[in-house]
Amino acid sequence: MSFTKPLKFYFLVDCNQFFVSCQQVFDPQLLNKPVVVLSNNDGCVVARSKEAKALNIPMGAPAYQFAEVFKAQKVHVLSSNYTLYADMSRRVMETLSQFSVDMEEYSIDEAFLSISSSDLSNFAHTIRRTVQQWTGIPVSIGVGSTKTLAKVANDIAKKNGGVFVFTSDVHIDEILEKLDPQDIWGVGRNLAADLKNRGIWNGKTLKEAPDDWIKKQFSVTLLRTVYELRGISCLESSHFPVPRKSIVCSRSFRHRLTQLADVDEALCSYTATAAKRLREENLLPSFLTVFLMTSLHISQPYSNSWTLTLAEPTAFTPELTLRAKEALRKIFRPGYVYKKVGIVLGGFSPKNNYQPDLFASCEKQNTRQKRAIEALDSVNKKFGNNTLRFAAEGISQPWKMAKDHLSPCYTTSWADILKIKI
Ligand SMILES: [Mg+2]
Repeated sequence: MSFTKPLKFYFLVDCNQFFVSCQQVFDPQLLNKPVVVLSNNDGCVVARSKEAKALNIPMGAPAYQFAEVFKAQKVHVLSSNYTLYADMSRRVMETLSQFSVDMEEYSIDEAFLSISSSDLSNFAHTIRRTVQQWTGIPVSIGVGSTKTLAKVANDIAKKNGGVFVFTSDVHIDEILEKLDPQDIWGVGRNLAADLKNRGIWNGKTLKEAPDDWIKKQFSVTLLRTVYELRGISCLESSHFPVPRKSIVCSRSFRHRLTQLADVDEALCSYTATAAKRLREENLLPSFLTVFLMTSLHISQPYSNSWTLTLAEPTAFTPELTLRAKEALRKIFRPGYVYKKVGIVLGGFSPKNNYQPDLFASCEKQNTRQKRAIEALDSVNKKFGNNTLRFAAEGISQPWKMAKDHLSPCYTTSWADILKIKI
């Protein structure tokens, strides 16, 4: 069978055990050791090194249940450090963007690159070496004529030297024949079970199933996947990012809270974070919602939310804080033991393009506010997050999430930068 070579190929670049790799870059003692990274509040395992996987520590394992195993097996346990991961992700993506103008960031640690090259394997190895050299992060690269095939290739690359390229139609069929449908991108476990019930046992039979039958029995979405397996690219829509609809900032408290003043502090801190994101993305919200809840597993749980419309869209933290506190007072009930508070900002109009409220603040005040907040943002950017913060966010912040095993923010905080001794 001949292999009609498409003009462009998709390279799916995926960072290996990304969170763990980010930690290993700055702490080489962690290399070749069992390492786990825990979720928010040190709750459960969200990333594992190869060595930790070999110890049968499952993904999602609750940390408290595995405390003995961690100790006995000398597992390095780390709190998640999203500041570090986000910055390392930016570095990886920036490096990848050197190789293709047509690039799509698929997640914090994955990107599709559209590339035409006469030597695909060599090109993939060059990308892999460069990312490793420039950022310290190891990646696996799968190459195929469609995104779905690139995903399949990537799974193989992870187990086989880091790069895998589909070279011919025969080659693709051989691999697909051994592939469980549930391991194909977009086919979940339930759909795979349904497919198997109807005689579609592997990727190759799925690829060869009649169009009409797939469309009638299943869906157009699955038909798209089938086309992709045949090498016909049809998952292009994700090239158009969906505009953001809301910004949510909420966390569970480290210790349950009962006092309004404490919940206030946490809410003000989340509002400041959300407002910073607004300014980074040049968005102005037209409403805010505050929600508050106790644990759901108590005899009389309580949860409530309150939404306020903003007279004038704003990303000015003090104004948003004031309104958020106002909303909180509508839903706070004394006598409960609270677990979580949060804020949602939405109804965005892009900055510089909104209807000013005639009865709201005047121009002069706006300029002053703008200058003050720009100064705050630039100080925090230069000297690290929270160098300057609002008094309303509190000083000791006892409600703050547990991060008992947090590593330094090596790349974003001057205080945490590595010191080399000679
Ligand atoms: Mg990954």
